Amino acid sequence: MNILVTNDDGLFAPGLRALVEALLPLGTVWVVAPEREQSAAGHAITLHKPLRMDPVQLNGLGVEAYSSNGTPADCVILGCLTAATRPDLVVSGINKGANLGEEVLYSGTVSAAMEAALQGLRAMAVSICSYDTEDFSAPARAAVLLAGPVLEAVLPDDCFLNVNVPAVPWNELTGVEITHLGRRAYINAVDRREDPRGRPYYWFTGEPRESRSGAGTDIGAVNAGRVSITPVHFDLTSHETGPRLEEAARVLNEGIGPR
Ligand code: MN
Repeated sequence: MNILVTNDDGLFAPGLRALVEALLPLGTVWVVAPEREQSAAGHAITLHKPLRMDPVQLNGLGVEAYSSNGTPADCVILGCLTAATRPDLVVSGINKGANLGEEVLYSGTVSAAMEAALQGLRAMAVSICSYDTEDFSAPARAAVLLAGPVLEAVLPDDCFLNVNVPAVPWNELTGVEITHLGRRAYINAVDRREDPRGRPYYWFTGEPRESRSGAGTDIGAVNAGRVSITPVHFDLTSHETGPRLEEAARVLNEGIGPR
Protein backbone atom coordinates (compact mmCIF):
# COMPACT_ATOMS: atom_id res chain seq x y z
CA MET A 1 0.00 0.00 0.00
CA ASN A 2 1.30 3.41 -1.00
CA ILE A 3 0.16 6.00 1.55
CA LEU A 4 0.55 9.77 1.34
CA VAL A 5 0.34 11.51 4.71
CA THR A 6 -0.34 15.19 5.19
CA ASN A 7 -1.85 17.46 7.86
CA ASP A 8 -2.59 21.05 8.77
CA ASP A 9 -0.68 21.21 12.07
CA GLY A 10 2.62 21.33 10.20
CA LEU A 11 5.20 18.79 9.15
CA PHE A 12 6.81 18.51 12.57
CA ALA A 13 3.59 18.14 14.57
CA PRO A 14 3.61 15.10 16.88
CA GLY A 15 0.27 13.89 15.48
CA LEU A 16 1.74 13.49 12.00
CA ARG A 17 4.74 11.66 13.36
CA ALA A 18 2.55 9.25 15.33
CA LEU A 19 0.44 8.60 12.22
CA VAL A 20 3.46 7.92 9.99
CA GLU A 21 4.98 5.58 12.57
CA ALA A 22 1.75 3.64 12.91
CA LEU A 23 1.13 3.32 9.15
CA LEU A 24 4.69 2.23 8.27
CA PRO A 25 4.03 -1.54 8.59
CA LEU A 26 1.26 -1.25 5.96
CA GLY A 27 3.56 -0.31 3.08
CA THR A 28 5.28 2.72 1.63
CA VAL A 29 4.50 5.88 3.58
CA TRP A 30 5.56 9.31 2.39
CA VAL A 31 4.78 12.81 3.52
CA VAL A 32 4.02 16.16 1.94
CA ALA A 33 2.97 18.60 4.63
CA PRO A 34 2.91 22.33 5.35
CA GLU A 35 6.14 23.77 6.76
CA ARG A 36 4.12 25.53 9.48
CA GLU A 37 0.71 25.23 11.06
CA GLN A 38 -2.21 25.84 8.70
CA SER A 39 -5.12 24.96 10.96
CA ALA A 40 -8.35 26.56 9.65
CA ALA A 41 -6.75 27.09 6.22
CA GLY A 42 -9.83 25.44 4.73
CA HIS A 43 -9.59 24.28 1.14
CA ALA A 44 -7.46 27.21 -0.05
CA ILE A 45 -4.97 26.58 -2.82
CA THR A 46 -2.07 28.78 -3.85
CA LEU A 47 -2.17 30.42 -7.27
CA HIS A 48 -0.23 33.65 -6.84
CA LYS A 49 3.15 32.68 -5.44
CA PRO A 50 5.70 29.95 -6.14
CA LEU A 51 5.18 26.69 -4.29
CA ARG A 52 8.09 24.83 -2.71
CA MET A 53 8.37 21.18 -1.85
CA ASP A 54 11.68 20.68 -0.11
CA PRO A 55 12.93 17.24 0.98
CA VAL A 56 13.36 16.95 4.75
CA GLN A 57 14.31 14.32 7.30
CA LEU A 58 11.77 13.24 9.88
CA ASN A 59 14.14 12.14 12.62
CA GLY A 60 14.55 8.41 12.75
CA LEU A 61 11.53 7.56 10.60
CA GLY A 62 13.40 7.01 7.32
CA VAL A 63 10.48 8.03 5.12
CA GLU A 64 10.43 10.29 2.09
CA ALA A 65 9.12 13.62 3.36
CA TYR A 66 8.66 17.07 1.87
CA SER A 67 8.04 20.40 3.51
CA SER A 68 5.84 22.80 1.56
CA ASN A 69 5.01 26.48 1.88
CA GLY A 70 1.56 25.62 0.51
CA THR A 71 -1.75 24.83 2.17
CA PRO A 72 -2.84 21.29 3.06
CA ALA A 73 -4.82 21.07 -0.21
CA ASP A 74 -1.72 22.30 -2.09
CA CYS A 75 0.28 19.51 -0.43
CA VAL A 76 -2.09 16.83 -1.73
CA ILE A 77 -2.10 18.26 -5.25
CA LEU A 78 1.71 18.62 -5.25
CA GLY A 79 2.12 15.11 -3.89
CA CYS A 80 -0.18 13.59 -6.49
CA LEU A 81 1.26 15.48 -9.46
CA THR A 82 4.93 14.97 -8.63
CA ALA A 83 4.93 11.37 -7.40
CA ALA A 84 6.06 8.54 -9.64
CA THR A 85 3.28 6.38 -8.20
CA ARG A 86 -0.18 7.63 -7.32
CA PRO A 87 -0.99 6.99 -3.67
CA ASP A 88 -3.52 4.24 -2.90
CA LEU A 89 -4.59 6.14 0.18
CA VAL A 90 -4.20 9.66 1.56
CA VAL A 91 -4.40 10.10 5.33
CA SER A 92 -4.55 13.59 6.81
CA GLY A 93 -3.73 14.11 10.48
CA ILE A 94 -3.59 13.24 13.20
CA ASN A 95 -5.08 16.64 13.89
CA LYS A 96 -4.82 18.04 17.38
CA GLY A 97 -8.43 19.05 18.05
CA ALA A 98 -11.72 17.65 16.82
CA ASN A 99 -13.12 18.39 13.36
CA LEU A 100 -16.85 18.05 13.90
CA GLY A 101 -19.93 19.55 12.27
CA GLU A 102 -19.23 22.66 10.23
CA GLU A 103 -15.59 22.59 11.30
CA VAL A 104 -15.08 20.38 8.22
CA LEU A 105 -15.47 23.59 6.19
CA TYR A 106 -12.66 25.42 7.99
CA SER A 107 -10.35 22.51 8.64
CA GLY A 108 -7.18 22.17 6.60
CA THR A 109 -6.96 18.56 7.80
CA VAL A 110 -10.36 17.70 6.39
CA SER A 111 -9.83 19.78 3.23
CA ALA A 112 -6.68 17.80 2.43
CA ALA A 113 -8.73 14.59 2.52
CA MET A 114 -11.43 16.28 0.44
CA GLU A 115 -8.82 17.32 -2.12
CA ALA A 116 -7.58 13.74 -2.32
CA ALA A 117 -11.16 12.56 -2.91
CA LEU A 118 -11.54 15.14 -5.68
CA GLN A 119 -8.34 13.74 -7.20
CA GLY A 120 -10.07 10.35 -7.31
CA LEU A 121 -8.13 8.93 -4.36
CA ARG A 122 -9.21 7.08 -1.23
CA ALA A 123 -8.77 9.35 1.76
CA MET A 124 -9.48 9.90 5.41
CA ALA A 125 -9.00 12.76 7.84
CA VAL A 126 -8.15 11.72 11.40
CA SER A 127 -8.49 13.99 14.43
CA ILE A 128 -8.18 13.57 18.18
CA CYS A 129 -10.82 15.43 20.18
CA SER A 130 -8.45 17.42 22.39
CA TYR A 131 -5.95 20.25 22.06
CA ASP A 132 -4.17 19.21 25.24
CA THR A 133 -2.94 15.70 24.52
CA GLU A 134 0.38 14.27 23.40
CA ASP A 135 -0.99 10.72 23.25
CA PHE A 136 -1.98 9.96 19.67
CA SER A 137 -1.92 6.18 20.08
CA ALA A 138 -5.70 5.64 19.88
CA PRO A 139 -6.30 7.65 16.68
CA ALA A 140 -3.12 6.15 15.16
CA ARG A 141 -4.41 2.65 15.85
CA ALA A 142 -7.82 3.57 14.43
CA ALA A 143 -6.16 4.85 11.23
CA VAL A 144 -4.20 1.62 10.83
CA LEU A 145 -7.29 -0.56 11.33
CA LEU A 146 -9.34 1.55 8.91
CA ALA A 147 -6.74 1.78 6.12
CA GLY A 148 -7.40 -1.66 4.61
CA PRO A 149 -11.22 -1.53 4.75
CA VAL A 150 -11.27 2.02 3.36
CA LEU A 151 -9.23 0.84 0.41
CA GLU A 152 -11.55 -2.14 -0.14
CA ALA A 153 -14.87 -0.34 0.49
CA VAL A 154 -17.21 0.57 -2.33
CA LEU A 155 -17.39 4.32 -1.90
CA PRO A 156 -19.11 6.78 -4.23
CA ASP A 157 -16.99 9.25 -6.17
CA ASP A 158 -15.70 12.31 -4.30
CA CYS A 159 -16.31 10.71 -0.92
CA PHE A 160 -13.90 10.39 2.00
CA LEU A 161 -14.04 9.59 5.70
CA ASN A 162 -13.83 12.13 8.48
CA VAL A 163 -12.70 10.25 11.59
CA ASN A 164 -12.78 11.78 15.08
CA VAL A 165 -11.39 9.87 18.03
CA PRO A 166 -12.14 10.80 21.68
CA ALA A 167 -9.01 11.68 23.64
CA VAL A 168 -8.99 8.59 25.85
CA PRO A 169 -6.81 5.48 25.97
CA TRP A 170 -7.74 2.79 23.43
CA ASN A 171 -9.32 0.50 26.04
CA GLU A 172 -11.58 3.32 27.25
CA LEU A 173 -13.23 3.90 23.85
CA THR A 174 -16.87 2.80 24.06
CA GLY A 175 -17.32 1.84 20.41
CA VAL A 176 -17.58 3.13 16.86
CA GLU A 177 -20.42 4.96 15.16
CA ILE A 178 -21.06 5.83 11.51
CA THR A 179 -22.38 9.37 11.82
CA HIS A 180 -23.61 12.43 9.99
CA LEU A 181 -22.29 15.93 10.58
CA GLY A 182 -23.75 17.75 13.56
CA ARG A 183 -23.67 21.47 14.01
CA ARG A 184 -21.50 23.44 16.37
CA ALA A 185 -22.69 27.02 16.11
CA TYR A 186 -19.82 29.20 17.21
CA ILE A 187 -20.72 32.23 19.26
CA ASN A 188 -19.26 34.71 16.85
CA ALA A 189 -17.50 36.92 19.35
CA VAL A 190 -14.75 39.27 18.37
CA ASP A 191 -12.36 41.18 20.64
CA ARG A 192 -11.63 44.68 19.46
CA ARG A 193 -8.28 45.96 20.70
CA GLU A 194 -5.93 48.75 19.77
CA ASP A 195 -2.41 48.43 18.45
CA PRO A 196 0.39 50.71 19.80
CA ARG A 197 -0.40 53.23 17.07
CA GLY A 198 -4.04 53.47 18.09
CA ARG A 199 -5.43 51.51 15.15
CA PRO A 200 -8.03 48.86 15.97
CA TYR A 201 -7.41 45.17 15.41
CA TYR A 202 -9.73 42.25 15.90
CA TRP A 203 -9.40 38.76 17.32
CA PHE A 204 -12.02 35.99 17.02
CA THR A 205 -12.81 34.45 20.39
CA GLY A 206 -15.96 32.32 19.89
CA GLU A 207 -16.59 29.13 21.84
CA PRO A 208 -18.48 26.28 20.16
CA ARG A 209 -22.10 25.86 21.21
CA GLU A 210 -23.31 22.40 20.23
CA SER A 211 -26.68 23.05 18.71
CA ARG A 212 -27.05 19.78 16.82
CA SER A 213 -25.30 17.04 18.72
CA GLY A 214 -28.01 14.40 19.12
CA ALA A 215 -28.24 10.76 18.10
CA GLY A 216 -26.40 9.91 14.92
CA THR A 217 -24.25 13.03 14.86
CA ASP A 218 -20.47 13.08 14.95
CA ILE A 219 -20.59 15.33 18.03
CA GLY A 220 -22.94 12.98 19.87
CA ALA A 221 -20.73 9.98 19.10
CA VAL A 222 -17.50 11.46 20.45
CA ASN A 223 -19.33 12.88 23.49
CA ALA A 224 -20.36 9.30 24.24
CA GLY A 225 -16.75 8.11 23.93
CA ARG A 226 -17.19 6.48 20.52
CA VAL A 227 -15.02 6.86 17.44
CA SER A 228 -17.02 8.84 14.87
CA ILE A 229 -16.72 7.97 11.18
CA THR A 230 -18.55 10.43 8.94
CA PRO A 231 -18.61 9.79 5.20
CA VAL A 232 -18.30 13.25 3.61
CA HIS A 233 -18.63 14.28 -0.01
CA PHE A 234 -18.13 17.59 -1.72
CA ASP A 235 -21.65 18.01 -3.16
CA LEU A 236 -23.03 20.99 -1.24
CA THR A 237 -26.14 21.12 -3.44
CA SER A 238 -29.36 21.34 -1.41
CA HIS A 239 -31.23 18.76 -3.44
CA GLU A 240 -34.56 19.12 -1.62
CA THR A 241 -34.60 22.89 -2.19
CA GLY A 242 -34.55 22.73 -6.01
CA PRO A 243 -38.32 22.13 -6.42
CA ARG A 244 -39.10 25.07 -4.09
CA LEU A 245 -37.28 27.45 -6.43
CA GLU A 246 -39.46 26.86 -9.46
CA GLU A 247 -41.37 30.11 -8.96
CA ALA A 248 -38.11 32.07 -8.64
CA ALA A 249 -36.81 30.47 -11.83
CA ARG A 250 -40.11 31.24 -13.60
CA VAL A 251 -39.92 34.95 -12.64
CA LEU A 252 -36.32 35.18 -13.80
CA ASN A 253 -37.14 33.37 -17.02
CA GLU A 254 -39.99 35.79 -17.67
CA GLY A 255 -37.53 38.65 -17.16
CA ILE A 256 -35.20 37.12 -19.71
CA GLY A 257 -38.16 36.99 -22.09
CA PRO A 258 -38.68 34.99 -25.27
CA ARG A 259 -35.62 34.22 -27.39
MN1 MN B 1 -4.95 21.55 12.91
